[in-house]
Amino acid sequence: MINWSDIGGVLLDLDGTLIRGGAALPGAAAFVRRLQRLGVPFLYFTNNSLRTPDAVAARLTSLGFPAERESVYTSSMATADWLCEHRVASSIYMIGEAGLRTALQEAKLTLVDGGETRADAVVVGLDRNATYRQFAVAMRHLTAGAAFVGTNADRALPVAGGFAPGAGALLALLQSATQRSPFIIGKPNADFVRTACRKLRIAPAQALVIGDNPETDLAAGIAAGAKTILVETGVRVVTDLRPDWRVAGVAELLN
Ligand SMILES: [Mg+2]
Repeated sequence: MINWSDIGGVLLDLDGTLIRGGAALPGAAAFVRRLQRLGVPFLYFTNNSLRTPDAVAARLTSLGFPAERESVYTSSMATADWLCEHRVASSIYMIGEAGLRTALQEAKLTLVDGGETRADAVVVGLDRNATYRQFAVAMRHLTAGAAFVGTNADRALPVAGGFAPGAGALLALLQSATQRSPFIIGKPNADFVRTACRKLRIAPAQALVIGDNPETDLAAGIAAGAKTILVETGVRVVTDLRPDWRVAGVAELLN
């Protein structure tokens, strides 16, 4: 079905595509090992901003996937890349966890704490310990004219036994309070695909995006001009978007 020698590189979504509920989906690790054997470059490509690339790689390795920090690209890393490339801010107020904080710090961006120092940008990723005070400080910066940037807009996060609020839900709180809309870095932003392709040193037209979410994975891949595969192991959203291939799960790609 797919001629792998025509594929320059693969961007692999994680939640709902390769893993679910903290476990590898059937055949997923074998599929990525097969890509590696075939010499097809790949990147784990996730909207999830929570973890550092080291932590993502460690988690994937423990589940049997071939992974190192260089094979991980998160929305937090893309956010830091975007802020540097566009020189949007010299000082940033952030709400987010270790993945976002580390990415911004490694990019040598200045993080301001509290509300006294001026911030040029407010950057928001999922933070499971965020407080009302942090949102109040973020609102003060936004009202004073700071740029408003979100790592990703996923409304809900799959967790054991259901869903929890995602980064998009935190952004909605600030959006409601300030009547401003954030610029979103993660999928469906096609630039996330383009910067990921740059890491693989391929053109987006040579890339294959594999994901479970039509609204994010498929939309980003199609907008960037990449080939796309929709898998049915994660979210099931009705969509008019047409992937190049549709499979029940990545295990099917082993055939
Ligand atoms: Mg997914």
